Formats: sequence, structure tokens, C-alpha cells
Amino acid sequence: MKKSLTSRKEDYSKWYNELVVKADLAENSAVRGCMTIKPYGYAIWEKMQAELDKRFKETGHENAYFPLFVPKSLFELEEKNAEGFAKECAVVTHYRLQNDPDRPGKLRVDPEAKLDEELVVRPTSEAVIWNTFKGWIESYRDLPLKINQWANVVRWEMRTRLFLRTTEFLWQEGHTAHATKKEAVEEAELINALYADFAENFLAIPVIEGLKSESEKFAGAVETYCIEAMMQDGKALQAGTSHFLGENFAKAFDVKFTSDQGKQEYVWATSWGVSTRLMGALVMTHSDDHGLVLPPNLAPIQVVIVPIFKNDEQLELISEKANAIAEALRSKGIRVKYDNRTTHKPGWKFAEYELKGIPLRIAIGPKDLEKGSVELARRDLLSKTFEQQEGLENLIENLLKDIQQELFNKAKAFRDDHITKADSFEEFKDILESKGGFISAHWDGTAETEEKIKELTKATIRCIPFSGDKEAGKCMFTGRDSAQRVLFAKAY
Ligand code: AMP
Repeated sequence: MKKSLTSRKEDYSKWYNELVVKADLAENSAVRGCMTIKPYGYAIWEKMQAELDKRFKETGHENAYFPLFVPKSLFELEEKNAEGFAKECAVVTHYRLQNDPDRPGKLRVDPEAKLDEELVVRPTSEAVIWNTFKGWIESYRDLPLKINQWANVVRWEMRTRLFLRTTEFLWQEGHTAHATKKEAVEEAELINALYADFAENFLAIPVIEGLKSESEKFAGAVETYCIEAMMQDGKALQAGTSHFLGENFAKAFDVKFTSDQGKQEYVWATSWGVSTRLMGALVMTHSDDHGLVLPPNLAPIQVVIVPIFKNDEQLELISEKANAIAEALRSKGIRVKYDNRTTHKPGWKFAEYELKGIPLRIAIGPKDLEKGSVELARRDLLSKTFEQQEGLENLIENLLKDIQQELFNKAKAFRDDHITKADSFEEFKDILESKGGFISAHWDGTAETEEKIKELTKATIRCIPFSGDKEAGKCMFTGRDSAQRVLFAKAY
């Protein structure tokens, strides 16, 4: 039985939702906008977590954990941050349920158990963390303070989609404190570069690094750095953000330190995060109409071995060979599964592993035992070759590296092909309708023009890119001066 998917051409959005559910990544839950991440999806997220965690630690960060609830009086201290997130906050007002006298066997909120102060379920943890940092920072010797937290956050989103935008999501949030502005800016830049490297060299997702415009930046930040990716339907996705927060939070929470000159100064801050949205980016970058395509780095199973047999005797002989191959692969650190279940036919298994994006599949039948061969199938190309059993582990080790690189190359070629220059608003609209993707155009730098363009076309400024064309020009909308081209796109 093949669990066939709607094709991308037919309905990209439907394809995505079906794939996420059928490949056992996640499903919707009883609460609108909240998802259940299934074991297979979670195993992939754990791979992302482990790699990021390693990189954070290598760059001098430590993990800690802070509470889920933020007292409203703390939440509102940094006004811009509070105002930016206010509309998306879930708020706890009561702490107890009781039997409902009007509905036997049912519960109601105990009106007597109203909290003196409402608690905000964190949409982000700056408030709770800066209130804590106040007690941790006294002198320049306590700095820099570089903390990361793995947690869930809640943002009451109105339009949700599995992984890409959920009401509750998992993420990591870094929060750092520094003695100087220079150090804090360097930290925000370092993390953005770390995210870009992780996206490209681990997830095989090409990204553009840049700065957010004033209206797209994080509420409470001085600058937001970001990495932006391009999905297969020509829509952009913000894949990660790193914020330089200036002294905003230090001032709001009164966090000062004694400098080496003996002066009292405010602390400089950054915060940064990537979320389970990256799972959505992964699906939308690499997968096809047959299902998930996983870069080998992320695949919980990199190679699956399927025996083709008619009777127990054949299975026994094949298993001996298959186990030897699996052992040789494991000795090279390759994640391998031998699927010798007799409850499912080989054809069913092939379809299942294709749907789940296992990079390589080995099939061994009775003929292969005679010839010393195997059938090797590549998920990304849907190709099959016959290979010798002898030395197979070396071949596979190299092939996994090639697949990782080729997935990146393919995605990058697509992305590069979807960056188009526009010099007039007419041209801009044409490209947006016909091709989509990033449109590189001049903009006069005002929020007003940005807003008008968004109203008329739904396209937003994804970033002011760090690299590429830096030539000045005239805004494609108003004709006013523009310092450099920026990237517009419709986005998730
Ligand atoms: P922010 O704190 O808004 O800068 O977001 C930090 C990271 O979380 C960014 O990579 C966002 O793309 C991602 N993110 C923001 N909102 C959501 C959401 N509702 N669901 C999943 N990821 C999100």
C-alpha cells in the first residue's frame, strides 16, 4: 500500500501538510495551532539540537533553564518588547479548578483562586532572564555572560501551519550580557554567522545573511540580523534571527556593572533563536512528490537494508550477509537499520522508506548472495545501481557525503535562480506574480514605502543583505535615493 501524496504542482500547501503527517513528523493536536511532534520528527529535531548545542558550547555558551511564567509587571518593563508581543500572549489568571455545581461531574475555574498578578506564558524570555541577570552581574568580572536555554514558548498565532508557524514551539534562545557595545555587536554577528553555517553545512539549506528593516526587526532590539531561506514554491522563510539589544533591557531591568575603571555602567545585550520552524524549512527545501528527502547529516537512519526472500531458509542466509554489512557500516559511524520484519512486504518497505527520506536503501535477494552484489537505491535521485558487497561501506561512506553536498548544490542553484532584479514597480509586480522568489530592488529606506508595497503586493523586505550588489540607486516605488538593493519576497 503506497501512501501517495498530492503533488507539489497540484497544491504545494496540501503536499506539505500531507507529507508532514504521512512521513510521521508531526500532527495536529486538540489545541488549535499546537502540534504533536512524533518520534520520527523528534529524532530529526534532536539531530539539529545536538549539532547546535555543540556549536554553542564551542563558542563559550552555557545552558540554563528559566521559568515558563513571567509576572505581568516584569513583562511590561521593556515597553517596546511588551508592546510587540502583547497581542500574542497567553495569560494565566487562575490557579485552580473545582467541581461545577451546575454540571455534575464537570469542572469550572474556581473564582476564589484568582491570581493577585497575572502570569504571561513566555512568548520569549528576555524579561524573565534580565530580571535574573540583575542578581548575577555586579562587576566587569562577571562579564561576558553567555547563556542559552532550550525551551518551549507560546505565541498566540492566528494563522498556523505545522512546524512553520505554531502557537507553541520548541526553540533555543540565547541571552548574553557584555561590558561593551562592540562585544555585543560581535556576539550578535557571530551567532548569525553560526546559524548560516549550520543551515548550509548541516541542513544543506542555502541562506542569505542580512539585517532586518526597522519594521521587521524584533520588538525591543536595536538591530536584528537574520538568515533567510527560499522554499521550492518561491516563498521566503525566516530561518533564524540574532538581535543586538543595545542597553534597552539593561535599562528596563536596571542591570549595571562596575567597570574596570570603577564606574557604574549599563550592560549591553544580545538574544538569538532558531525554532522547530527549521523542520518545516527542511521539508520545503529538499523534499519531493514521493515524500521526505533528508540530508544524511540529519537522517536518524542513513541506510536501510531490506531482504528480498521467499522462505525462512533464504531469509536466514540473507540475514547473515545483511548483518555483516550493517556491522561494517556501523563501524564507520553510519546509522543503519536492518528491516527483517516478515509482517511487511519488500514493496511496502520501499515505499515507506522513500516517504521517510532514508538517504540510501540496500536490497539483498538470493541472486545477490550468489553474485556477491546488492541493489543500492539513492533517495535524492530515485536511482538504483548494483554494487559489490566487498568494500560497500567505503562506497556508502563517500556517497553519504556526496548526497549531503549535492542536496545543498541543488537547493542553492534553485535559490540563485530565484533572485531577480527589478528596477520599476511594474517589473516588481510581474516577477512576483510570474516567478516569485527574492526580488532585489532599490528602496528609499522608509517604513512608509515598505508598508505600501506590502499592502499592494503582500511582499515584505526579507533582509538588507550583507553581501552582493552595494551600489546606490533610486527606489523602485518612489524614485527617491536608495543606498543599496534589498531583498523582497512573499514569505511564510
Ligand atoms: P524571534 O524571537 O521572533 O526573533 O524568533 C526566533 C526564531 O523563532 C526565528 O527563527 C523565527 O523564525 C522563529 N519563530 C517565530 N515565531 C514562530 C512560530 N510561531 N513558530 C515557529 N517558529 C517561530
